[in-house]
Amino acid sequence: MTMTAQGVASAVETRGMLIGGRWVDAASGELIPVENPARRETIAFVPRGAAPDVDNAVQHASAAFDSWRRIAPRERGLQLLRIADALDARLEDIARTVALETGNALRTQARPEVKLAADIFRYFGGLTGELKGMTIPLGEHVLSYTRREPLGVVAAVIPWNAPLLLAALKIAPAVCAGNTVVLKTAEDAPLAVLLLGAVCQEHLPAGVLNVLTGTGPECGAPLLQHPGVAKLSFTGSTAVGKLVMQAAAERVLPVSLELGGKSPSIVFPDADEDWVVDGIIAAMRFTRQSQSCTAGSRLFLHASIYEPFLDKLTQRVATLRIGDPLDEATEVGTIINEKQFRRVCGYVEDGLKQPGAKLLAGGLPPTEGPLSQGYFMQPTVFANASNAWRLAREEIFGPVMVAVPWTDEAEVIRMANDSHYGLAGYVWTRDIGKALRTAHEIQSGWVQVNQGTGQSPGQPYGGYKQSGIGREFSLESMLDSFTQTKAITVNLTR
Ligand code: NAD
Repeated sequence: MTMTAQGVASAVETRGMLIGGRWVDAASGELIPVENPARRETIAFVPRGAAPDVDNAVQHASAAFDSWRRIAPRERGLQLLRIADALDARLEDIARTVALETGNALRTQARPEVKLAADIFRYFGGLTGELKGMTIPLGEHVLSYTRREPLGVVAAVIPWNAPLLLAALKIAPAVCAGNTVVLKTAEDAPLAVLLLGAVCQEHLPAGVLNVLTGTGPECGAPLLQHPGVAKLSFTGSTAVGKLVMQAAAERVLPVSLELGGKSPSIVFPDADEDWVVDGIIAAMRFTRQSQSCTAGSRLFLHASIYEPFLDKLTQRVATLRIGDPLDEATEVGTIINEKQFRRVCGYVEDGLKQPGAKLLAGGLPPTEGPLSQGYFMQPTVFANASNAWRLAREEIFGPVMVAVPWTDEAEVIRMANDSHYGLAGYVWTRDIGKALRTAHEIQSGWVQVNQGTGQSPGQPYGGYKQSGIGREFSLESMLDSFTQTKAITVNLTR
């Protein structure tokens, strides 16, 4: 079977799922379609993986583990570095595939995502020397030391919003530490990750990385429940994250969860400036249609600057270019699929019904013209919002921001923390004391002061509260999430 389809061009050299170094169909022979959300057209078909395919993949990953874990760490690292270079060499091809299947704009999102994925492989490729243990001073008669050992087969499940990056964040640290991986792609965005699988396969022994395609219930659930799996690593919604944790509890498995967010952006009175407006737009991830777990979607603006700041924000938002994700001029692409599109529209309708609500930008999507051909939404801002609105409490995962006024520092921190999520947060002021006091009070795994950028390799990243458990992106994440410590104690008197 090939996945040739209009528009995917050379990207579609993937020929099915990657299991044990071979490209295979689902045992059932069934396929699922992949859609280009900018045109609402099917662009490819991938195998509809299910329990027998999961079993096959886990068996290959188990078989590969025995030799992969014995390979000198430095050698494993070199292979990751080669993958990083190979990703750089294929950047354009892979980036176009990401843009086609996710609707994320090529220039503002897809290319930077591939670059970051390569950097993730490069970063973890350089860390194998850190897989070191300790010696424990128990006395002259005894030598006691520890080893960092891999866990075994890692089951990884990822969402569609940044598929290549999220796949890299599972594969690179797991493989660096000597584990093997079975990764299930998201049904809406499997193509670029299959390309990543093809690149990895050129450098890794067969079975070290296996890539499955299929739905959550049919392919994800049997993977998470498979008895041959030693660790569950999940990125996705908090609702599915709870199921993952239940599956881990059943077998007392280590689990990492990177889940949803509803992050606050707090603007102090001295920050009524253009660069803050740009920072708020970046933090809201409007150029990724705000389909980002770290989107700063609750804007807490000090009452003294509320109106002038929102005027500037509205004017700037109106200049964002929405359009074909493959067009170099485009800054904002499309929502991923019809279900999400309808969901996000539902939140906009809900906002319009709130007493006193003021729609400053965006609103419901156009019903005619070129943008109506795809799942395009305009960056939307509601003013006079309350932190109690459903729009301020639930993760929308779409470009809908609410602006809530505040006057008292303690009150704004209370509102910022009044959420079951705790992934990210943003603070905007030149008063460093205020900034750091506020950053320390926000109950989130990552707070940025005066910037709204994405994550960088080396920085521990993950959630407080129901935004997750464990960290990614860093040395600690590799050691804590993908190794286990063994102590060995030797009696020296015998
Ligand atoms: P989702 O939870 O619906 O799906 C994520 C993955 O889980 C997909 O591969 C899906 O097929 C699979 N899945 C679904 N049901 C399953 C089941 N019963 N058993 C096993 N697997 C199952 O999430 P989504 O809508 O694809 O992604 C959006 C969510 O991901 C948002 O909540 C977002 O905040 C979160 N996210 C978090 C981070 C982070 O780093 N914290 C990063 C990106 C996205």
